[in-house]
Amino acid sequence: MVIQPKIRGFICTTSHPVGCKEHVEQQIQYVQRQPSVEGPRRVLVIGASTGYGLASRIVAAFGSNADTVGVFLEKPGTDARSGTAGWYNTVAFTEAARSAGRVAENINGDAFSDEVKKEAIDVIREKLGQVDLVVYSLASPRRTHPKTQEVFSSVLKPIGAPFSDKTVDPNTGVVSTVTVNPASEEEVRQTVAVMGGEDWEMWMKALMEAGVLAPGFNTVAYSYLGPQLTRAIYRDGAIGRAKDDLEATAKRMNQQYSAEGAHAFVSINKAVVTQASSAIPVVPLYISLLFKTMKERNTHEDCIEQMYRLFAQRLYSGEAVPLDEEGRIRLDELEMDPETQRIVHETWKRVNTDNVYELSDLAGYKSDFLKLFGFALDGVDYDADVNPNLSWE
Ligand code: NAD
Repeated sequence: MVIQPKIRGFICTTSHPVGCKEHVEQQIQYVQRQPSVEGPRRVLVIGASTGYGLASRIVAAFGSNADTVGVFLEKPGTDARSGTAGWYNTVAFTEAARSAGRVAENINGDAFSDEVKKEAIDVIREKLGQVDLVVYSLASPRRTHPKTQEVFSSVLKPIGAPFSDKTVDPNTGVVSTVTVNPASEEEVRQTVAVMGGEDWEMWMKALMEAGVLAPGFNTVAYSYLGPQLTRAIYRDGAIGRAKDDLEATAKRMNQQYSAEGAHAFVSINKAVVTQASSAIPVVPLYISLLFKTMKERNTHEDCIEQMYRLFAQRLYSGEAVPLDEEGRIRLDELEMDPETQRIVHETWKRVNTDNVYELSDLAGYKSDFLKLFGFALDGVDYDADVNPNLSWE
């Protein structure tokens, strides 16, 4: 089958198995070029198939020689239809990790459910014994509560007042003004239920009770702060409330664990192009301006560079983990650099449909977006017939 990108809004409904493999291999090679990390040897990654979770798994396996269990929700391909990118990423990761002698076990299912938690515990017991690190990197629009079966949906809306600002349609390059109406209290509640800390805490409680957390274990979840430009829609919006809840959960769990020498961290990561971030109004334009500035200033990073720094320079540097005044790990210092933000802010005022390719890195944004689905990778023959029906077993 010849597979081409089919873009619908901010999603691509096809993905390319060979391109996804190439994308994963590039990330593995990046990690292999860096000094190795004296890090965890047994790692559970929840949300392991794309974006920050996949990059964390790659750094664990290839930077720190860790055996890994990955949990995710993806669709396999069939003979007639391509699977999701996260499926192909996982096939590629698993093959590479196993050839390098690492254990790599996968659970494809709803991480919010009790069943998947139980399955993960069984797999950890059988294959790893215990884990030294639990990475929580889910990004989902929905969650079914495992006890009440209530289905929550998250929204990307401001709170209190409508928000209007520039946005770009990456498919057409048209810069326009978008207005997003505020979330209702109920929408905020549901967003917190999906993207807040409750499920992370449920995972940690289940893992703890099952005795599969090694002494002195770490757990880390990912959050975002961002600049003034995206504040109303992101950090002060419904998703920001969920991140506040996630961060409060880390503090609470950290207090519980401190007697045992274990830690719960939140890491504030930088803005990158992932399936999750492309859905947020205003953010693609912000990212395009940010990338242009950071590339010019030689400070640009993607998921894999960020996750390598998280392991090598924050969690496992051999020193105390550096935290900000709120107790969070910060990996966004290059994004938030005042000069970078000054340039982005200044360019934001001038950017329009006519100059968007000149003033911003929209071309880089689009190419990164296609790469998420295994397209636009150098050296991949996109006219060749490929087998979409792949598996890691
Ligand atoms: P992503 O969309 O690339 O990855 C999401 C992962 O969650 C995938 O592995 C997917 O399979 C999994 N998943 C979703 N629903 C699931 C379910 N019900 N059961 C099992 N697995 C499920 O997202 P990402 O951008 O890497 O985001 C990960 C975390 O990083 C989020 O907390 C996000 O807020 C945070 N973060 C993202 C950015 C950014 O710019 N993308 C910046 C800072 C922090």
